[in-house]
Amino acid sequence: MNADAQSIARRIEGKLAEIRGADMLPEELIALVERVIPLQLAARQNAKVAVPEAGACATDAAMFAGSPMLLRESFPYDEAQALELFGVFLAMLAEVGGEAAKSAATLNAALASGELKPVEVLRALISGNEETFVAWRAKLPGTPRALDFLAVCSLWPSLSATAQALAPRLPENLPHDHGHCPLCGSLPYISLLRQKEGLRFGVCSFCGHEHRIRRIACPYCDEADQNKLKLFQVKEFPGVRVDVCTTCNMYVKTVDHRELDGEPLPALDDMATLALDVLALNQGFKRPTLSAWGF
Ligand SMILES: [Zn+2]
Ligand SMILES: [Zn+2]
Repeated sequence: MNADAQSIARRIEGKLAEIRGADMLPEELIALVERVIPLQLAARQNAKVAVPEAGACATDAAMFAGSPMLLRESFPYDEAQALELFGVFLAMLAEVGGEAAKSAATLNAALASGELKPVEVLRALISGNEETFVAWRAKLPGTPRALDFLAVCSLWPSLSATAQALAPRLPENLPHDHGHCPLCGSLPYISLLRQKEGLRFGVCSFCGHEHRIRRIACPYCDEADQNKLKLFQVKEFPGVRVDVCTTCNMYVKTVDHRELDGEPLPALDDMATLALDVLALNQGFKRPTLSAWGF
């Protein structure tokens, strides 16, 4: 393991300890995520994605006007890799036991009968077709998000690899008046403050790309009137705030990483601060995206 990989592994360990300490999620789920992450990171290195030529992407002029570089349905991904990971993660789900194992058994039976086709599930996620997932949530009452989890986690390595390949092609000084991802057009699931100046970044709920967003504006509806934007913090989560917008009634958590040395781990920040989601939801605010884990 090189120094970078070691430092990431140490930080993942630290975050998982924080998540366990928060005592909001069942140990089985945390242990599952702990097994999934290293496989995802390794798979990202090996993902084979055919990134389209610049001519097949939005022009700089279109991107300056707010268009994403690619539509998410055109985002390339490594289907063979995602299908393999789908099987691996499904087997892990079965090993968790309890309700997760029951869901895994239901999914395995559906695979055997042909009722469930992983390739179609992956394509549904890519094209943003919710119906497939909604239908399966009803069939998996114990862990309704099991299929979302499998699809999101299996696709993460190649979508992230595509985002890494496309990001250097973004024009410089791209305006960031909108909250959506400049690569794929999806909404952020969390936001981060970075660098000494405290620049704010959204983390894309689809491709994971971190993109500049306005410091004081709702990333979902672009509201920038300070009277419509509020934030709250609780002392148990120093450095994390919840930004709420009274125009669209959405909220987003913002994690202060100005002091962080190295890359943030937003998917784990999100899990570690689940208690703040509960508070925001109890106040009537909504979250327009799933977590990076599909639940
Ligand atoms: Zn994106
Ligand atoms: Zn809003």
